[in-house]
Amino acid sequence: MSAIASLFQEAARLAAGFRQAAPARHVPTRGYAASLAAFDEPLPAASSDMLDVIRQLANDAEPGLHATTGPRFFGWVIGGSHPVGVAADFLTSAWGQNAGNHTVAPAAAAVETVAARWLLDLLKLPAESSVGFVTGATVANFTCLAAARGEVLRQVGWDADANGLFGAPEITVLIGDDAHTTVFSALQFLGVGHDRVRRVRTDPVGRIDPAALADTLDTVSGPVIAILQAGQINTGAFDDFAAIIPLLKAKGAWVHVDGAFGLWAQASEKTSHLSRGIEAADSWATDGHKWLQTPYDCGYAIVRNELAHRRAMTIAASYLPLAGEGERDPSHYVPELSRRARGFATWAMLKHLGREGVAALIDQCCASARLAADLLAREPGIAILNDVALNQLVIRFGADLPSEEGDALTRKTIEKIQADGMIFAGGAKWRGRNVLRLSVTNFQTTSDQAELAVESIITAFRSVSENSHPR
Ligand SMILES: *Cc1c(COP(=O)(O)O)cnc(C)c1O
Repeated sequence: MSAIASLFQEAARLAAGFRQAAPARHVPTRGYAASLAAFDEPLPAASSDMLDVIRQLANDAEPGLHATTGPRFFGWVIGGSHPVGVAADFLTSAWGQNAGNHTVAPAAAAVETVAARWLLDLLKLPAESSVGFVTGATVANFTCLAAARGEVLRQVGWDADANGLFGAPEITVLIGDDAHTTVFSALQFLGVGHDRVRRVRTDPVGRIDPAALADTLDTVSGPVIAILQAGQINTGAFDDFAAIIPLLKAKGAWVHVDGAFGLWAQASEKTSHLSRGIEAADSWATDGHKWLQTPYDCGYAIVRNELAHRRAMTIAASYLPLAGEGERDPSHYVPELSRRARGFATWAMLKHLGREGVAALIDQCCASARLAADLLAREPGIAILNDVALNQLVIRFGADLPSEEGDALTRKTIEKIQADGMIFAGGAKWRGRNVLRLSVTNFQTTSDQAELAVESIITAFRSVSENSHPR
């Protein structure tokens, strides 16, 4: 066998071994400091054998890896890196294509064209929209908001892409009080400022209050960008697009939706009522590496006005004609030039799952989340704080106790759950209180897995409560 073949086979063997072990072990046995110690050595002077390097990498990294790909990983909002996406990603790395340009990487550009069309179809978004294949929803938000910034200023006669923001007319940015932190980062990167926004009041689950928005709009004039949300990071709640977008459109606003995971509600008949009216927005940010289960890094910046998208992302776009060009240059829709051919893994996942498979995946996650919520709510002292319509659960322990005691009990229960290691889930703050947050975003989280998770949570909770309040 050639050296290349044995090297690649060894990597594949190690990868498969890790994936087989992942369902059993949920938390790293080595944290950051121990992982650092494992890798810490001076820059090697001499070369090392290729196979040895790969074996050492796996050996030293694995104890410090979370089983994020396993069926009982509920931390943050993390997808499962589906084997088909991973295999496509192996090939992507092996092919080493630079996806910036269709002449340099024809197949990579072509696959993005097709995957973009499939995504718009699946997510029920306007077919004329353009799609940028970016690293994740943070950069998708950035890309969409760059298009928004350029377009709302262009409409008042200011070319922000050429002249920047110094001396530009002011843009009013409207945003819900419970928007994701990365949207504020995007505003920061764009020179719009993360604090120079008009925050709009939200309801108890994090949805923008339409009446509060209408009141704010009465006081606004000039260019407006509004940032809405499909899937609040804790509660999974959706803004009421059908009610809100028409109000914003009447003001001439550019409406952007952060739908990192929530946009996928569009892909199933059982959940698409949650995102009703979302297609009337101007841009949408979402992730492939969350609910679609592609490996990291994979997100999509979707913009209805292709020209605004291109103007914001390419120097050439403002004078290049769009029509009749034929080929698609991937770099016209993203901030980078040279980059990974992200379309291959997206194509592979969509081809593997198909429309029905994606819907089944969304439904399974939501059903498992609902089941876990129902089972947990039966346990005295445990409260579910959100309406589990999607895949997110906000859980409070010691629901019957004074706030501080409930906070302490919640914190201790989370520590115990993590120490037990049957599942992984982490804490968050919701409405000023400690909570456990579960995100069901893995293709393997069936109802059986949800039941195991509930068992682990209740066992931890009972043991912690007995120790805190000996009867
Ligand atoms: C995860 C997430 C983001 C950021 O996405 P990345 O892929 O981490 O860059 C933005 N908004 C929401 C609601 C998210 O859940």
